[in-house]
Amino acid sequence: MNCINHPDRKAFSICQKYNLGYCQECCTCTDPKGYCKYRTQCIAWQICKKSKEHSA
Ligand SMILES: [Zn+2]
Repeated sequence: MNCINHPDRKAFSICQKYNLGYCQECCTCTDPKGYCKYRTQCIAWQICKKSKEHSA
């Protein structure tokens, strides 16, 4: 799987809920407030959460 925004890049993480790939640059949760049963193991969510904590 490749990044949804960069088809030439290999996916760094994959959203298991929506089955979307993201490169390291694009790695953000597309649905951070919605219920996601994969959240506890989702890299996209973890990185999204961390980057928000750092910028806020
Ligand atoms: Zn990308």
